[in-house]
Amino acid sequence: MTDLLIGISALVAGGIWGSFLGVLAVRVPQGLSIATPGSRCDHCFSPLTISELIPLISWIRSGGRCRSCAQRILPEIPISEFSTSFFFIFVAFLPASLEERAALVLFFSFALPLTLIDIRHHRLPHILTFSGIATGLFFSFFTMGGKGLLISGEGALIGFIPVAIVALLYSRGMGMGDAFWLAAIGAFTGPMNLSLVLLAASSTGILAAFAAHYINPPGKRGPLFGKALPFGPFLSLGGFLALTFPGLVHVINSHIMEIPL
Ligand SMILES: [Zn+2]
Repeated sequence: MTDLLIGISALVAGGIWGSFLGVLAVRVPQGLSIATPGSRCDHCFSPLTISELIPLISWIRSGGRCRSCAQRILPEIPISEFSTSFFFIFVAFLPASLEERAALVLFFSFALPLTLIDIRHHRLPHILTFSGIATGLFFSFFTMGGKGLLISGEGALIGFIPVAIVALLYSRGMGMGDAFWLAAIGAFTGPMNLSLVLLAASSTGILAAFAAHYINPPGKRGPLFGKALPFGPFLSLGGFLALTFPGLVHVINSHIMEIPL
């Protein structure tokens, strides 16, 4: 297959899969079924026609608004479709084994809806984090057998315990959702990569907190007034880095060892 054909296939497949992930991001926090009713406007509930269901294209053609009520379509849907298409193209050309690429796609399928839900609702629904843990464990068993399952289980446990302790002691800063999400990430990456995941998540989280501080100084009624920074998206970013660059953790670990104490 030529590169162009691979790119177009990844773009189309990403648009379709991203459309489903967008539905997850919108419906799961509301406790709605993801199967029924069919796709509809989230404002006026009018069902979408076939021509309104084409990923990416429908959103561009409608100018991002519902045809019946002219309200803005929730950004979760186009964000999911565009980012999943982009991600599939990235994975298609990534110099990695088939297993590594499959793990990335599976991980992304949990990371994207959880990230979008955490940004809007400040929570990480158990149905998605628990499914993420189960998928990580099953995938490791499927690709590496009993040894893989053991490594994956260790990753889940070591990811869960420290964040769960922080969540119990300081519930305003972190929730149990973060602990279960890091457990799922650990089930995909194994325990060795968790130092990289946490380092990437906390450093980008601190940078974002500084940025938020300047955009919206404390006490001022700016665009971020009264908003807390969710940690889930930064954990997702850490998991993505660990799975995309499996060698990176060794560089980080060897530098941490070299720091004279
Ligand atoms: Zn509508």
